[in-house]
Amino acid sequence: MHITVSAIKADIGGIGGHTRPSDDLFEVVKNYVGKRAKNLLTDYYVGYTGDDIHIIMTHNKGIENDKVHQLAWDAFTEGTKTAKEQGLYGAGQDLLKDAFSGNIKGLGPGVAEIDMEERPSEVFCVFAADKTEPGAFNFPLWRIFVDARSNTGILINEQLASGVTFRILDVMSGKIADLKLWSEKTELEAALMYPGRYVVHSVLSSEGEQIVSASTDRLHNIAGTYVGKDDPVAIVRTQKNFPATEEAGSAFNDPHYVAGNTRGSHHMPLMPVKLNSAASLNYSIPIVSCLVFSMHNGRLTGPHDGFGTADWDLQRMWAAERAMIMRNQGFIHPATLVPEELEYNKGYEARISKLNQKFKDIDQTLPDDSTRAARVKKD
Ligand SMILES: [Mg+2]
Repeated sequence: MHITVSAIKADIGGIGGHTRPSDDLFEVVKNYVGKRAKNLLTDYYVGYTGDDIHIIMTHNKGIENDKVHQLAWDAFTEGTKTAKEQGLYGAGQDLLKDAFSGNIKGLGPGVAEIDMEERPSEVFCVFAADKTEPGAFNFPLWRIFVDARSNTGILINEQLASGVTFRILDVMSGKIADLKLWSEKTELEAALMYPGRYVVHSVLSSEGEQIVSASTDRLHNIAGTYVGKDDPVAIVRTQKNFPATEEAGSAFNDPHYVAGNTRGSHHMPLMPVKLNSAASLNYSIPIVSCLVFSMHNGRLTGPHDGFGTADWDLQRMWAAERAMIMRNQGFIHPATLVPEELEYNKGYEARISKLNQKFKDIDQTLPDDSTRAARVKKD
């Protein structure tokens, strides 16, 4: 059966800051999707990670379908009314345009979609992150498909061993590159090395099946200026000829440093959290949740909470500890991002412009030779 899975997410308001949607806001979005799902969607699920609400939809309309995208847009627009009524922080902040125009891409919300021939036991994970950027998935996706130390499946599974193709987006030029394993491994790694510039758009199997789709659309549409702080969502198909579900999940078991955090201006570890977790008030540690689904004829079973089992408490502790180690370094880089990646760059530019006025040639600030000689004599 041919099925499309669409994951669309947006931040349309949080309680008291960038924490989580209010219960009322969440219910409005969920009910709206439920009302409009008839005759359009096969199934759906609505949840949140931090202040981002995600709508997971299955249907047979293909990717970039205007009706499916409009449903998500309208649900977020409806939710925004409640967010405004409640005075929630950042009400409607990810809805960048006033009206829907056929495709939600470029309008603010993030979109990940895969069109697939459903397998008898179709399985996929949705990784939904908050307080970070799409490049946050570079390291885990490298661990899943490139690093045999993280994933023995790369050696054992014939199709994974034959190598996948990474589709990489250059966020500055808006261009896409296909890099094939294993012949272009080093070029791929050179790209993944800088998650602020190059982000994974999708991953394809050696047979051409799409395994991964990640939300990079807004970055693509506003290429040329730095807009990297879109909290990302990614769909990763698992099992059989794809990575095992636990091989995908465990790629997040060593909380790596990502850009994001408070004011989108710091490097902090990515903490795996339970479904529907609020962002922490401890400087908003970047978070990621894992929704595990089974699907048959487009009907969803789940989500199972991928990071909900007791053992993940260890990773949460590591992330909290690594966060403190970095944040205790205050504003000194690399705790903070490089200037061009700072979300509140204008304020920094104002500081630097004043600072630059203070700089003078070194000769003007040091005593001249005669003064120096006089001082030496006196001493
Ligand atoms: Mg967010």
